[in-house]
Amino acid sequence: MTLPPTRRVIGPIARAGERPVGAVRPRVSFEFFPPKTEKMEESLWEAITRLAPLDPAFVSVTYGAGGSTRERTHRTVKRILDETRLKPAAHLTCVGASRAEVDEVIHDYWNIGVRHIVSLRGDPPPGEGGLGGLYVPREDGYKNATELTAALRGIAPFEVLVGVYPEKHPESPSLDHDIDVLKAKVDAGATLAISQFFFDIDAFLRFVDKARGAGITIPIVPGIMPVTNFNGLKTMSAACQTSVPGWLANLFEGLDGDPETRRLIACSVATEMCAKLQEQGFNDFHFYTLNRADLVYAICRVLGVRETVPAAEAAA
Ligand SMILES: Cc1cc2nc3c(=O)[nH]c(=O)nc-3n(C[C@H](O)[C@H](O)[C@H](O)COP(=O)(O)OP(=O)(O)OC[C@H]3O[C@@H](n4cnc5c(N)ncnc54)[C@H](O)[C@@H]3O)c2cc1C
Repeated sequence: MTLPPTRRVIGPIARAGERPVGAVRPRVSFEFFPPKTEKMEESLWEAITRLAPLDPAFVSVTYGAGGSTRERTHRTVKRILDETRLKPAAHLTCVGASRAEVDEVIHDYWNIGVRHIVSLRGDPPPGEGGLGGLYVPREDGYKNATELTAALRGIAPFEVLVGVYPEKHPESPSLDHDIDVLKAKVDAGATLAISQFFFDIDAFLRFVDKARGAGITIPIVPGIMPVTNFNGLKTMSAACQTSVPGWLANLFEGLDGDPETRRLIACSVATEMCAKLQEQGFNDFHFYTLNRADLVYAICRVLGVRETVPAAEAAA
């Protein structure tokens, strides 16, 4: 199976910001979501236990739409801190909350030992248009991730991670505007950016090129989504305006009833994307795990990421 060739050769400005490729072990990070039920909690912890020995740079835990998982996110992050050696990065959004409420969450995280926060605006809650709906900031709330980032850094010296959109944020008038927004977030204290998932490698490279051209030097880490459910992907991609290339559709065509082959393809596509990004000088990868370890574990193995700590020790 071949992905379309990456035609662009990234220039020296862009390369300077990335890690050298070669013998250097890729730096990986994993995203999880807070579980709703006991059964989901069990699968999350199976996934964490399996992936922890790969020594990720950090693991992030999402914040449900409109802050709906505030307690569950907090609980999951706390358990990671208490029971593992992992560095949890708590996602935090400012939608639907006052500055005082958000500040309280920030103080709580700092006090329990969290040092990494993924600073996000969030989307309108489902009842108010949901993803893609018109965002109206609260009078007494933080307006966007830039303001939230500044608030985080004002409260404590967190490592602040932010989101970027290689194919443009759906509400943004242009990619240049997105670059200006990223620059503002960096000026406010962001130290690393994680990209929305994508399949168009050229679009990601163009975005990084533009950012480097604008003097943004923080790492921009590609967000990799191993896709097993193509129909689900189409819905999600339409909402966040990520393009789904024809070659990906072709790969999954006729496989609705064949989950095993879909999983093999998912692993192969994600691994090849990472390899292509490595050819372009990228060596950091953020994986959207969907709380399942097996695919991401296999992809990491292919990339040469091996256990560095015995499993029992990593999860202890
Ligand atoms: C890696 C990643 C993880 C995510 N995790 C979650 C999650 O856990 N929970 C969740 O609810 N959502 C999550 N999201 C989705 C995210 O909340 C939405 O994409 C949201 O629509 C935008 O969030 P943002 O932080 O990029 O917004 P912002 O950076 O605030 O940008 C939103 C808009 O605000 C405006 N803006 C921002 N800063 C400025 C500025 N300085 N000057 C002028 N205009 C500005 C821009 O017009 C921009 O288009 C995630 C996204 C990514 C990429």
